[in-house]
Amino acid sequence: MSNIQNQFLSDAIVIRIQNMHKWYGEFHVLKNINLEVKKGERIVVCGPSGSGKSTMIRCINRLEEHQQGRIIIKNTELTNDVKNIEEVRREVGMCFQHFNLFPHLSILDNLTLAPIWVRKTSKKEAEELAMHYLERVKISNQAKKFPGQLSGGQQQRVAIARSLCMQPEIMLFDEPTSALDPEMIAEVLDVMTSLAKDGMTMLCVTHEMGFARKVADRVIFMDGGEIIEENKPEEFFDNPQNERTQLFLSQIL
Ligand code: ADP
Ligand code: MG
Repeated sequence: MSNIQNQFLSDAIVIRIQNMHKWYGEFHVLKNINLEVKKGERIVVCGPSGSGKSTMIRCINRLEEHQQGRIIIKNTELTNDVKNIEEVRREVGMCFQHFNLFPHLSILDNLTLAPIWVRKTSKKEAEELAMHYLERVKISNQAKKFPGQLSGGQQQRVAIARSLCMQPEIMLFDEPTSALDPEMIAEVLDVMTSLAKDGMTMLCVTHEMGFARKVADRVIFMDGGEIIEENKPEEFFDNPQNERTQLFLSQIL
C-alpha cells in the first residue's frame, strides 16, 4: 500500500473550504465543512449514501450553491458573480457516475465541443487535443464511434478524456465507477491512477477502497452532512477513530 510519490507536490492550496454550510430548503445538508486541498493532492471522500458527498463536490464547481462560509478555488472565491463561476469551471473538471455523453455526437465530437465553443480553440487544434487525451485513456481507436457503441467502461473513459480536453487543474470525480459492471471498474480506476501519478489534483468520491489505499494522500469520511474523520489511508482503514467510521468500514470492507 505504498502511496504514489508526487515529487512536485507544492504547498499551494488550490481548494479552500471554510465553515461552509448548505441547505436544501429547510434541510441542513452540509454542516460546517472545512477542507483544504493542496496542488497535486489526491483526496478520497467516502461515507454512507445521503451523507452529502455529492452535494459537497457539486458546491466546489457551483453546480450547487452554498449559503454560509467560503469556497475559494485557487484565488477565486465562489460567489454569485458569473465571471467567478466561469473562472472556477475552467480550472475544475468533473466526472460523474453517469457519463452524460451526447449520444448523437461521435466520440471525437463529444470531446471537441467544449474546447471549440467555450475555449474558442480551432477545430484542428481541438481534434489534436482530443486525440491526445483519447490515447491517454487508451481509446483513440474508437474516436469515430458513437457513445452507444461503446461499453460503460469505455464511455466513462471518454467522459474523463472529455474533461481533460478543457485542461483543468483540478478533477472532481463523483462515484465514477458505481454504475459500471465489475469487469469495467478496473479500466476506469487505472485511468484515474495514471492521472494521479501525473500530479493531477483530485477529489474523488468513491467506495473503491483499494484505489483509496493505493492512490489517496488523505481519506475523508462524511456522515450526516459533516466531515467526521480524515486521515492518511493506512491510518483511516487500519485504525478508524470514530464509531461511525468503524461501522461504515465494517459494512463495506
Ligand atoms: P451522497 O452523495 O453522500 O449520497 P447527496 O449529497 O446526494 O449524498 O445527498 C445528501 C442529502 O441531500 C440526501 O438526504 C439527499 O436526499 C438530499 N438531497 C440531495 N439533492 C437534493 C436536492 N436537490 N434537493 C433536496 N434534497 C437533496
Ligand atoms: Mg452521491
